Amino acid sequence: MITFSLSDLRLICDSATFSRGYDYNEASYSIIKSVKMASDDIMQIMSTTTGSKLYKQSINIYNQDSGIKIIGKCSCPVGRNCKHVISSSLAYLDEAQDEIEDEIFEKFELKKEPDSINFKVAFQALQ
Ligand SMILES: [Zn+2]
Repeated sequence: MITFSLSDLRLICDSATFSRGYDYNEASYSIIKSVKMASDDIMQIMSTTTGSKLYKQSINIYNQDSGIKIIGKCSCPVGRNCKHVISSSLAYLDEAQDEIEDEIFEKFELKKEPDSINFKVAFQALQ
């Protein structure tokens, strides 16, 4: 896997596009379909993002000597590095972050705090 940061992602579009993509991810509009290594130094994220319509994204993360380069294609009229690409990339980062956290918790045998919503549901089910 290739890791990229929020600042790598911030470089690929203007602030208005980034802000709209951020809102889309907060609204859970993006679904990651697959993540694979297309070659040793290219990771490919496939996703869909809804909003007014459903669009498909194919995001390539290049691990180059000069650093990380991100190029995201999308089936929307903008076509490239649009708000849908930002939303999906943020959704991927959220998932990757969760996985890293899980590994840390597992490694150090830590107990997670009960998720407040699930805890509430479980509590209601007991009553
Ligand atoms: Zn798009």
